[in-house]
Amino acid sequence: MSESQEGSPEVLDAIVVGAGVTGLYQLYRLLNLNLNAKILEAGGGVGGTWYWNRYPGARFDSESISYQYSFSDELLEEWNWSEHYSGQPENERYLNFMADKFSLKQHIRLNSRVKSAVYNSEKVLWEIETEDGYKVCSRFFISAVGILSATHMPDIEGISDFKGESFHTSRWPHEKVDFKGKRVGVIGTGATAIQLIPEIAGEVGHLTVFQRTANYACPLRNSKIEDSEQEDLKKTYPETFERCKRTFAAFMQEADPRNTFEVSEEERLAFYEEIWSKPGFHKWFGNFQDSMTDDAANEEYAKFVRGKIRERVKDPAIADLLTPTDHPFGSKRIPLETNYYEVYNQDNVQLVNLKEAPIEKITATGVQTTDNSYDLDVIIYATGFDAITGELTRMNIRGENDQSLKEAWADGVKTYMTFQTSGFPNFFLINGTVFCNFTRCAEVVADWVSECIDYMNQNGYQKIGTNEQSEQEWTEYAESLTEGMIFTKAKTGNWFMGTNVAGKKKQFLFYAGGAIEFRERCEKVAKSGYEGFQLS
Ligand code: NAP
Repeated sequence: MSESQEGSPEVLDAIVVGAGVTGLYQLYRLLNLNLNAKILEAGGGVGGTWYWNRYPGARFDSESISYQYSFSDELLEEWNWSEHYSGQPENERYLNFMADKFSLKQHIRLNSRVKSAVYNSEKVLWEIETEDGYKVCSRFFISAVGILSATHMPDIEGISDFKGESFHTSRWPHEKVDFKGKRVGVIGTGATAIQLIPEIAGEVGHLTVFQRTANYACPLRNSKIEDSEQEDLKKTYPETFERCKRTFAAFMQEADPRNTFEVSEEERLAFYEEIWSKPGFHKWFGNFQDSMTDDAANEEYAKFVRGKIRERVKDPAIADLLTPTDHPFGSKRIPLETNYYEVYNQDNVQLVNLKEAPIEKITATGVQTTDNSYDLDVIIYATGFDAITGELTRMNIRGENDQSLKEAWADGVKTYMTFQTSGFPNFFLINGTVFCNFTRCAEVVADWVSECIDYMNQNGYQKIGTNEQSEQEWTEYAESLTEGMIFTKAKTGNWFMGTNVAGKKKQFLFYAGGAIEFRERCEKVAKSGYEGFQLS
């Protein structure tokens, strides 16, 4: 790869930040347009989420076949998934396979965390610098940093005082961590911890789980894909992608058109049991259509789920602690689990209720809550992410008039169509901010940006931006869609709403109009010559 020379950074057509699911596909599309494009990737390998989150138990909870790329028949044919919900090592291998197959790696600079990206109005170029001093200029600056990249460490006194080992789950070591016989503490009980805990509970000497909020975790029901099934499964791919196109959030599961109380209690329970017995997100997205909009319908299902949790935990007092009662079902991301609740029947596992006695500090020897101290050899922080905005505002991105993105978004995220923000021309955001099965919308947004750049090149445009009016109208419209939505009803600790990070503006961080509507709008705006954007 050609590096910049002293005093004369190379000038490219496009820099993409991030070699995860979206960035890799975006690079593929740009190279196919014969553009000179490169990815800058902070990690030491490609894969994004599936490079960083290597904690035991990390796996898809969308079906492997609905999460995979759809754009290449050859790739679909050549890659065999070994499980219906594939694990992190395989997911990372898949993304490497894709990058190798399309010869992308020669255009990816690894270990390159972007420190700053500054827009030069005169030259219509972005001047980009990485933490290791690499400089490059680019006409387009495209952020594909994902939604869950910036780790969120809790603001607890004494974290650096701890003398044992400690890890944040999304910065997990590459070598196997030996838990044998050790006293391990896990802080947090979100989707990550719920995958991790059952994987290590059998190996550790003693496990202490520090829980602040109980979650509605539902059984994943993963299974192997036998070699004999591969060919038949592959025949279903076209229908799988078509089906995802028909659903609100591009998952395979479609809501049942009936309303909860339209059917008898007996029928309702039978239906709940039916979706409960299915794998994956059937228990969330395959429910009665009003279960996420009508409070009484939601509570009816929440009661059913609470019952399912209680059935699996022997000690009723622990079962109570594990049973959420303070937020509606689905208002926070539903974790999918394998043997999670059974862990609490083991003698070597203790659940600590932080609602009753919060963590006061981390000490040299462990965790001290307001009523006890817990001696530990290892502390695992499964405390989540500064979602969507965290990674973007940590970079020093400066647009016209030297305004930083952080300042521009001080009162919350403002975009037009999720793609651009005013004052930052030729800067595209393709982080994955449509509420959607990730790869399904990653392909949509990378296609849209590629076609837009191609249109600009075909028509002699140098610059695309949006203005405050388009941005305001879109932001208000996007906000109006969230009124009364279930996601707004969990009062705390919800990364969808930014409420898991102190001081962050409370706002639904995804576009909530649905994948179908978003795709149609993308198409319409492109056909209109990019209405709401200014090309010059
Ligand atoms: P999370 O859902 O934000 O959970 C963080 C956990 O840490 C919560 O239980 C939170 O408690 C707790 N916590 C945070 N600060 C704390 C503090 N100071 N003291 C005590 N507890 C604290 O993060 P996550 O589990 O990493 O999951 C984030 C998202 O990643 C998921 O929602 C999901 O979208 C994605 N994910 C996906 C997969 C997959 O696709 N297979 C797997 C794992 C994760 P509160 O709830 O009380 O705030």
